[in-house]
Amino acid sequence: MVDRPEVALDELYREVVLDHHRRPRGRAPLSRVDARAHGFNPVCGDEVHLHLSLDGDRITGVEVQGRGCAICTASGSMMAELIPGRSEAEAGTFAEAFRSVMHGKSAPPDVDLGDLEALEGVKKFPVRVKCALLPWVTLADALRAWRDGATETTTTTEIEEAKP
Ligand code: ZN
Repeated sequence: MVDRPEVALDELYREVVLDHHRRPRGRAPLSRVDARAHGFNPVCGDEVHLHLSLDGDRITGVEVQGRGCAICTASGSMMAELIPGRSEAEAGTFAEAFRSVMHGKSAPPDVDLGDLEALEGVKKFPVRVKCALLPWVTLADALRAWRDGATETTTTTEIEEAKP
């Protein structure tokens, strides 16, 4: 069977992905910022500025700013929908599950990735996997800095090569 590129592109930009791209969630500025990180994907030029507010270990607010392609913007928007109200550990579970999916594995059956599942087709495009993972790598970075007691991190996150 021939893999027609236009079919693959359809899969890449599914309607739900385009909706998140057009109307990204999590753009409202937070009144209190407890953790922040900046992520950069030099391959595509995507940039994510992530702000979090936390109450104990619970994420109470997510703000995603920056500039990116449709895949990166949609992934960040989906993250902004998925993680508020979750604990730091739960957010880490989502990040890990989504990374598995992007690397061609399946998510654990007890993890519901919600709209993120619409990005599954991206796994066929290794260059775009970095775009999809950037907000999640940035989230991990912000949470790591927060655990270490830093309220601010200026780390620029570069994503490791996707391993098959
Ligand atoms: Zn991108």
